[in-house]
Amino acid sequence: MQIPEEALLIRYGEIGLKGGNRPRFEKILASNLRVALSNVPSLTIQRIRGRMLVRGQTPTIEMAVAARRVFGVTSVSPAQVVARNPEAMLEAARTLAAEAIAREHAGTSRIRFKVSVNRADKTFPLRSIEVARTVGAALIADESRLIVDLKDPELEIGVDLRTEGVYVFAGRQKAYGGLPVSSTGRVHCLLSGGFDSPVAAWQCMKRGMRVDFVSFYSFPFVGPQTREKVLRIAEKLTEWQPQAMLYVVPFSPYQEAIRDHCDERYRTVLYRRAMQRIASVIARTRKGKALVTGESIGQVASQTLENLRLIESASKLPVLRPLVTFDKTEIIALAREIGTHGLSNLPAPDCCTVFQPAQPVIHGQLSEVEHAEAQIDIGKLTYDAVQGTERISLLHQP
Ligand code: ATP
Ligand code: MG
Repeated sequence: MQIPEEALLIRYGEIGLKGGNRPRFEKILASNLRVALSNVPSLTIQRIRGRMLVRGQTPTIEMAVAARRVFGVTSVSPAQVVARNPEAMLEAARTLAAEAIAREHAGTSRIRFKVSVNRADKTFPLRSIEVARTVGAALIADESRLIVDLKDPELEIGVDLRTEGVYVFAGRQKAYGGLPVSSTGRVHCLLSGGFDSPVAAWQCMKRGMRVDFVSFYSFPFVGPQTREKVLRIAEKLTEWQPQAMLYVVPFSPYQEAIRDHCDERYRTVLYRRAMQRIASVIARTRKGKALVTGESIGQVASQTLENLRLIESASKLPVLRPLVTFDKTEIIALAREIGTHGLSNLPAPDCCTVFQPAQPVIHGQLSEVEHAEAQIDIGKLTYDAVQGTERISLLHQP
């Protein structure tokens, strides 16, 4: 008997809906998958209406782990590609069911299951319902603990009948959905070593943005471990996109000028405005369409509605704040899920703690801010910061 061929079946959701844009989104998705799976020998990605089929000389279970991290993908299933006849299909279904039961249902007395059939190939000799019945009956004959439950199955055996081939799979591993990175444009995220901004960056990638990173580095008031920490976070986040740039901006001269010449209570707001100004300049030379921060309403003194307004008014680009409505506990949970929590948790001071005022302003006023900024040479400080910026190019490491 011929050994069935293994492949990874990839489903994508939203991008299927985009009408005329669809081929473009699919192309980007395929290209991002190719990067995520670039360590797979003899990789091929085949587009079959509404799905992608990935083959290569790596176990499909391993390919599934990498493919789940590609935004746009809604779920994946390791599958067997079988000959276009009922016997081959049945054989694959029995093998896959037996494996899944041994792996996930040992020691249970009943297993709710269903067979789902998608018959895109209308010339296949059996109708969907007949395939489902035949496969279901064969599985029950093999395993008496199986009971049919179409609404809430614990085990799903899927049969996808297409003109390109017949695919049989057990279960679907959910992925994150969203849109493929780079399909909606490029943004620059103000990345600190905290918990929030990495999660904000991830949320934007999920909506199809390529995210580059801008980090403000107050050397020598904070040490090299702070730069190292941010670099590692940026690398970690680049596991979710093909590539990124990290800009490390020397920030101390700006902060010293603010310390020496401006109202102490406004320091944090002024730092944040300086960040927006510098990041806008960097972003605009790189076709960035927006800035992103990890700010969330009410979390700290600088995050009142009034202060957020003051901060964003220093930006030349729209400011996206994906976490505005998130609680800290929700942010921490997501940070764990995406793998940045451990890094953000490492001890290293951030630039904002440098010369921190005892009594920061809570409801800042634009007139005060403008007065404070008139005392320093914003143009030169911004120019020097951009000129002194270190540029680090990051590539996805499969
Ligand atoms: P985070 O956990 O992201 O540091 P936070 O709750 O600690 O956020 P702040 O420290 O007030 O909040 O920072 C608000 C936002 O300003 C951050 O989410 C980030 O986008 C930006 N930011 C703060 N410090 C830096 C920095 N050193 N470099 C780049 N961006 C920064
Ligand atoms: Mg912070």
